[in-house]
Amino acid sequence: MYANVMDGERLDLADEEVAHYRKMLSAHANQGAAGRCGICRQRGCRDWTAAFDTLAAAHALMGTEEDWDRRELYGAVK
Ligand SMILES: [Zn+2]
Repeated sequence: MYANVMDGERLDLADEEVAHYRKMLSAHANQGAAGRCGICRQRGCRDWTAAFDTLAAAHALMGTEEDWDRRELYGAVK
C-alpha cells in the first residue's frame, strides 16, 4: 500500500522506514550499461518505483548528496 504522490498529503515514515526505502532504492537502482536493476533485471523495476514513490510521498530525501554523485538513482540515460 503506497501513498498517492499526487494528493499532496505527506506520508509519515519512521526513520527506520526511510532508511529501509533508501536501501531499496540503492539496491534496485539501474546499473551498468544496460541500465537495469541488478536484482530484477528490469529498468525502473517495481521495487525501485515503490521505494521512490514512498519516499517522495514522505517528502524524504532519496539519499545523501554523496549518493547522488555516485549513483544514478533516477536511471538517467547515459
Ligand atoms: Zn529491482
